Amino acid sequence: MGYTITQDPGIGYCLECGDIIEYGHGRTDRKFCSDGCKNRWHNRRKAQSWHVYQHKVLKVLEGNHDILERLLHIGVTTIDRVSLGHLGFDFNYVTSFHKIGQRSVFSVYDITYEATPSRIRNISSRWNGAEEEGTGEGVTSKKSLKRPSAAVSAGL
Ligand SMILES: [Zn+2]
Repeated sequence: MGYTITQDPGIGYCLECGDIIEYGHGRTDRKFCSDGCKNRWHNRRKAQSWHVYQHKVLKVLEGNHDILERLLHIGVTTIDRVSLGHLGFDFNYVTSFHKIGQRSVFSVYDITYEATPSRIRNISSRWNGAEEEGTGEGVTSKKSLKRPSAAVSAGL
């Protein structure tokens, strides 16, 4: 005895559990054997699209962080928005935003910057000082002394 695989127009297979669906009463477009299977299938699809979205957001944040990190690495703390956009920075993805007085301060993980309508400035990393000083003592004041005073244009 062997199986013969045929497309029997009278039956279908549940997308969720694979059970046979018998088309008894004319409808031949059912994809699920039950509402339970239908719900499980749709819930899993929703969860998958959430993971896809989550992955995309994390990639964009990672990209933004890389760009800021590279700028800091070459001593750039101010850059105009257009140049930053050309580097691939996506202004829609940050990890925090604070309004401090008149200043709009954004963060991408440990790196913060202040945004104006035309540029971003005061790019700095929370970890930089600690790494440079080792002890963590007086990090804030030393760091602010070290920071390039005015705008350094991005030579990229
Ligand atoms: Zn089923």
